[in-house]
Amino acid sequence: MPSACAVLVAAGSGRRAGLIGGRSKQWALLGGKPVVRWSAETFCALKIPVAVVIHPDDQAMAEAALQGLSGIRLVPGGAERADSVRAGLRVFSDLDPTVPVLIHDAARPLLEAAHVHALLAALDVHDGALLALPVTDTLKSGTLEAGVTGTVARDGLWRAQTPQAFRLSAILTAYAALPDGTVPTDDVQVAEQAGLKIALVPGDGRLMKLTYPEDFAMAEAILSQTQAPPARVMRVGQGFDAHRWGPGESVWLCGVEITHTQTLIGHSDADAGLHALTDAILGALGEGDIGDHFPPTDPKWKGASSDQFLLWAAARVRAVGGAIINVDVTLICEQPKIKPHRDAMRQRLCELLGLAPDAVSVKATTTEKMGFTGRGEGLAAQAICL
Ligand code: MG
Repeated sequence: MPSACAVLVAAGSGRRAGLIGGRSKQWALLGGKPVVRWSAETFCALKIPVAVVIHPDDQAMAEAALQGLSGIRLVPGGAERADSVRAGLRVFSDLDPTVPVLIHDAARPLLEAAHVHALLAALDVHDGALLALPVTDTLKSGTLEAGVTGTVARDGLWRAQTPQAFRLSAILTAYAALPDGTVPTDDVQVAEQAGLKIALVPGDGRLMKLTYPEDFAMAEAILSQTQAPPARVMRVGQGFDAHRWGPGESVWLCGVEITHTQTLIGHSDADAGLHALTDAILGALGEGDIGDHFPPTDPKWKGASSDQFLLWAAARVRAVGGAIINVDVTLICEQPKIKPHRDAMRQRLCELLGLAPDAVSVKATTTEKMGFTGRGEGLAAQAICL
């Protein structure tokens, strides 16, 4: 069950923005990507399934714009925005009714994970929440013809943004109770009419709505500031493994076979050093542990060389656009003596990970005869990677 779901409204005809590059605004390119794809990617990265509500004529364009994203469902919208939101909400009718739903306009492409987290936190104590900015300009009433007729007090006035977040059942009930002929301009308006208590969450000027063609230039300028240079994120992970000693003549440690009076018992080659290091890398990725990906119940991995587990984890790092900066492995045992083999182990890890020697450390320690490693029952290994 997902922790939240999202309805991304992209069914508008973009009358006000007109056509940008021959397309209505949600399909136009912003920073080289279709507008709708920006916020869809933010939801996907958070593993939040998205119902993207589109005009039925836009099916092919939507498929192209959202190609390769997982958890996306395309839904034909209705005549009014409220009809489109209802159609999007229906996609999630089989989910737990208490699951939060984020309703978002595709025309606000610069959605960030922090916006979503802030809304979900507010939902813990309120029926609904929206991102909003206090009005800072002085407000005038009047018309172009008649001129100014007055000054409107701006205290307590907010500009509503999206996403707007609710519990699934609460907003469905609110939409069902909406009187015929009402044309709400946002979802909080529907929730208000149903008497729901809605929290104001500080919004973000960067979450601007693309309304007019010139808004694209401003959004591109914001993007050029926030996207370049690309955000550099550091991730660490740690791993631990232990295997029991048993009868044998050699042992695999950090990808090197060492002649010894015993061997380590395990489903694979029991290389605790490589297992701890593989777990460290998976930890940094937030992708579970070695047993999730190479289950010991699978006969395929019986006697397997653990090199392939480490190579696979390193390939996952590259696949998500990352790089391993350095690794550090500690082997914990009384026997065999690790020091004579340390350089060979470091060299093997350098080969497997494509790292320079100063980025790879292998250390060893005893536990002064204490504990299971001290009594010679088994060997343990721990590892960390950046
Ligand atoms: Mg193991």
